Amino acid sequence: MKGFTTKAVHAGRYTPAKGVVPPIYQTATYAFDTPKEMQDIFEGRSAGFVYSRVGNPTQKIFEEKMAVLEGGESAKAFASGMGAISAAILSVVRAGDHIISDRFIYGSTYDLFTEMLPRLGVSVSMIDLSDIDELEESLQENTRLIFYETPSNPTMKLVDIKKISEYHPITMVDNTYMTPYLQNPLELGSDVVIHSATKYISGHCDTLGGVIVSDAEFIERTHQVLKDFGAAMSPFNAWLLLRGIKTLALRMDRHSSNAMKVAEFLEGHPAVRRVYYPGLKSHPQHRLAERQMRGFGGMIAFEMQSYSEAEALMRDLELCTLAVSLGCVETLIQHPASMTHRAVPEERRESLGLRDELVRMSVGIEDVDDIIRDLSQALDRSIAQ
Ligand code: PLP
Repeated sequence: MKGFTTKAVHAGRYTPAKGVVPPIYQTATYAFDTPKEMQDIFEGRSAGFVYSRVGNPTQKIFEEKMAVLEGGESAKAFASGMGAISAAILSVVRAGDHIISDRFIYGSTYDLFTEMLPRLGVSVSMIDLSDIDELEESLQENTRLIFYETPSNPTMKLVDIKKISEYHPITMVDNTYMTPYLQNPLELGSDVVIHSATKYISGHCDTLGGVIVSDAEFIERTHQVLKDFGAAMSPFNAWLLLRGIKTLALRMDRHSSNAMKVAEFLEGHPAVRRVYYPGLKSHPQHRLAERQMRGFGGMIAFEMQSYSEAEALMRDLELCTLAVSLGCVETLIQHPASMTHRAVPEERRESLGLRDELVRMSVGIEDVDDIIRDLSQALDRSIAQ
């Protein structure tokens, strides 16, 4: 007769059922009948799972889905977008190497390149990748990779993926703003694509996640970094992301059509000095956007006349939520210079387009007339003052 605690731990049998939706394999470790069974998995002689930091069935379904959607051979999931970006970089560079990055990128990635990597003996040139002359001048014999976002967070600058892919170093694109539904960098020649899955892939502001998609050999290298640095995606987060992806196309169509209407409204409002949205003809890279993207997405940046007007706008909005992050069904608005990009030193912000009066908006899927009505009441107040 077994004791109470033994029964509490072991009673009840696990009977896999064929659910329409895959289960959350909420387990850290896996059971084997013989040591050899486990060794075979470790040494690649058979497929399976040993420990969830290095692999989990729910996470694996997410990886397979992302590889298919991005048109890559393989994918690796991480706990967050930064987990994925840092693993992609660390799987390539060593002390003495050189990186070229577009300087118009997310604040923490900027920080990783300008603070963390130089400490590890990696030199970084932060340049404007839309300027090919600057790229050619920056290339060195030890340049191992070129990194960029397109469109960039938050300034909505684009980089020509096809053109950059012609250069020899490994090219990595952060495709968070576009998602695989609207842009596929691998098909345009890039070697690696990365996402903060926290954003549109999830779509609901309820989980963190990151993913790298590339060829099998590159993904194997990122697996080594995952194993040793440990930024693993939790099974529950993988499950939430799997649910989010199912409606990605529907959401992106709605985000894009709403954002187009909001951008046109903002462009016509006297309180707004300038709007940055690749779908607008006034965007300097509108033609490139039409060539390499299948839609213009849900992100907009715009400049008010002054910081105090930008601050008043964010205070006066009622439907749009003041919050960092993006890609949620709710419309979010925020101030990059003091929020997402505060890690960028003040003296560098101006040259990166991070002006104090710049506001970033992640247009949600609400009825667009309601979003515009909210903006209108807040912008009209700013003019009346
Ligand atoms: N890349 C972009 C373009 C982002 O906007 C963000 C976060 O805002 C990240 C990467 C980092 O992602 P995470 O917050 O999931 O680590």
